[in-house]
Amino acid sequence: GPIEAGQSLSENQNKEKIKEPETYLLKPMNCPFHVRIYKNNPHSYRALPMRWAECGTVYRFEKKGELSGLIRVRGFTQDDAHIICQADKVEEELKQVIDFILFIYKSFGFKIEDVNVYLSVRDPKNNKYAGNDKGWEFTENVLEKVAKEKNLNFQKEVGGAVFYGPKLDFKIKDALGREWQCSTLQFDFNLPERFAMTFTNAQGQDESPYMLHRALFGSFERFIGLLIEHYAGAFSLWLSPVQVVIISVGENHIEHCRKLANEFKQNEIRAEVWDENETVGNKIRKAAKQKIPYMLVIGDKEMQSDKLQIRKRGEKETTGFDKNEFIDKIKKLIAEKSNNL
Ligand SMILES: [Zn+2]
Repeated sequence: GPIEAGQSLSENQNKEKIKEPETYLLKPMNCPFHVRIYKNNPHSYRALPMRWAECGTVYRFEKKGELSGLIRVRGFTQDDAHIICQADKVEEELKQVIDFILFIYKSFGFKIEDVNVYLSVRDPKNNKYAGNDKGWEFTENVLEKVAKEKNLNFQKEVGGAVFYGPKLDFKIKDALGREWQCSTLQFDFNLPERFAMTFTNAQGQDESPYMLHRALFGSFERFIGLLIEHYAGAFSLWLSPVQVVIISVGENHIEHCRKLANEFKQNEIRAEVWDENETVGNKIRKAAKQKIPYMLVIGDKEMQSDKLQIRKRGEKETTGFDKNEFIDKIKKLIAEKSNNL
């Protein structure tokens, strides 16, 4: 829990080993909890598909040497969802998830060529997989058909399936060229049976549903890590934590800077005033180093005019803008999630 006011960290942690003989287990996945919720009530085919999403924190005991920045960590948050559906709805559901995944990559500025897609199927010679041959043939064929209809340029990975079914994996390369799994779409025909999940079909009989496990980002930590590498810190405008930095020359310019910042904020533009007692040159260098999309310097001359002198990221020269023209321009770029400044 949070530390109480006035308490120090060392007071709070007495560094004694826990004496109670209790065993704790780290939660490795979210699926069993969604299964549990499903099983609370009976379900009719009319209520399917059910789509449940959760930002769930999970843990993996990765070896210390394999930890890597934000990209491989021991505790992370998945944008996890389970779609529980009947056989005649499964193709449509799979397609919708693929569309959603492609939308995410496009929105964050990844080109589809930056993303490698794998159709992971079982290795028929290995007996670690659940379910019968018929089930594997069906799910692998449907997944391949859907991937082709969605024009995914995928490679087949024999032996890459999870024990409960085949999957589509979307992997992104890091700065060192290593591939990391981000989105995943898993076609599970085993866990629902194993956990005795049923629904009443149109004939009034109990039937076992399919379960799609999907994560769009995969893990937020990993996705953000790869995003930072992808942009080398120079984020698209809509992703930049600070979009405009306003640099004051002297003390008597600060109030004007704050007014300007407020006007930006009212237009949902993230603006910061840098009013520290430092040289303008220093502040400009700092803003350039932080790869802030736009900076503007406010001195005596700028205070007497409604024109803004804007310095774009990566440019040495400034460009003059009418204030409202500038606000409209960047609002449009933000709304379009444009990669341009
Ligand atoms: Zn799952």
